[in-house]
Amino acid sequence: MSHFEGCVFRPEVPEGIDLKKSRILLHCCCAPCSTAILEWMVEEGLRPGVFFSNSNIVPYEEYTKRRDELARYAASFGLEVVDDEYDHAAWLEYVRSLSGAAVSGPERGPRCLACFGFRLLRAAKYAATHGYDILTTTLASSRWKDLAQVDSAGRLAVKETDVIWWNQNWRKGGLQERRNFLVKSCALYNQTWCGCEFSSHH
Ligand code: SF4
Repeated sequence: MSHFEGCVFRPEVPEGIDLKKSRILLHCCCAPCSTAILEWMVEEGLRPGVFFSNSNIVPYEEYTKRRDELARYAASFGLEVVDDEYDHAAWLEYVRSLSGAAVSGPERGPRCLACFGFRLLRAAKYAATHGYDILTTTLASSRWKDLAQVDSAGRLAVKETDVIWWNQNWRKGGLQERRNFLVKSCALYNQTWCGCEFSSHH
């Protein structure tokens, strides 16, 4: 069912999964990317865990700013944010080791794939140890991201766990437009760069 005008969103649910009977962990990168997704989930009666794991973001003040803005938005649905440990040095070491000389290259390259991997691995681990059945991410709502990279990082992240990866394009079915509306109407802080020291301003 659509809950707002123009919403024809239909989830692409993993086979055999009943969302209403599942515990969903939603990895959230920031408030703007989470807006329409969280709203849709809550209106469907789904109460996801909201997991903020984004050690890619620098400086730390920017990290807390994005986290607190997400917490403000999630609170409007009565949801609390789980704030993962912030460790930018570990993130940097991980993406450097996986992307080598390409670490300072353009977005959508090897650095970003490693970055998704770092964050989704942590999310998958949290999901597995806290009784969640399914993991999905708001990273797949941003038009700046390569959805195939998000999917491959997600698949890999859950590999050693019983958690099911929910690969979902969250830009479809009116959610992109709804996101833009909600960012404005809730007066959310909307950053102009992805997060790490290599990301360029959009
Ligand atoms: S540009 Fe964004 S997705 Fe890519 S490595 Fe930096 S923070 Fe991660």
